[in-house]
Formats: sequence, C-alpha cells, structure tokens
Amino acid sequence: MRLKSHVERRSAGARYRHGRLTPNLTESRTDLFHGLFVWQRAGSEPGRLARHSNAPNAVPDPATGRLLKVASTEISDRAVCPACTQLGAGGYVSFESDLRLAFACPSCRTLVWIAGA
Ligand SMILES: [Zn+2]
Repeated sequence: MRLKSHVERRSAGARYRHGRLTPNLTESRTDLFHGLFVWQRAGSEPGRLARHSNAPNAVPDPATGRLLKVASTEISDRAVCPACTQLGAGGYVSFESDLRLAFACPSCRTLVWIAGA
C-alpha cells in the first residue's frame, strides 16, 4: 500500500509539470507603455520590445494627464533603464514641444520619464 501511494504522487507531479512547460511559449503584451511598443518574451529569456504597428500618436503626461504628442520612437539594443538599471533593449520616446524623454523598459515593464536638458 505504501509503495502504491508513492507512485501515484509521482505521476501526479509529472502531469502537473508537463502542463506548465509548454515549449516555445511566447508572451506578448500591448497594454504596457500606452501601446507604444509591443512587449514580448519567449520562454525564460529577458523581455524585449518591438514597434507596435498601431501605436498611438500621443500619450498622457504623467503629471497633468494632458496628451503629449509623440515625435519619434526608437528601439535601442543596448540601453540602460534609469529605473532598474538593467542593461538591455529598450525603447525611447521623444515628444513634440516637450523636452522630456520616456524610456520603455522591458525588464521592469515601466515607462520611465526622463527630465529634458
Ligand atoms: Zn527597468
């Protein structure tokens, strides 16, 4: 009896693990960064960003809520996030009539605002 229950526990555990390890699972989110970038992650690799084909042309100012017109977005392969200091890919956003920059970080998944010069 003892042996039988041991075997049952093991097979239940194997089934559980099999269900979680789906190969080539890619996570993809567009709700981060106000939809400016698509955040993707395949398996256990670090997250990365891609341009969003349907990106908005303005995002709300975090201080006032006013819409700021996006001048350009640029994806950099080697960027350091000002918030979590992770080196990795990230996206820079510049705005019209505003000297601030925003940095989209795939590690902390935050849009970090950087004061302009
Ligand atoms: Zn970060």
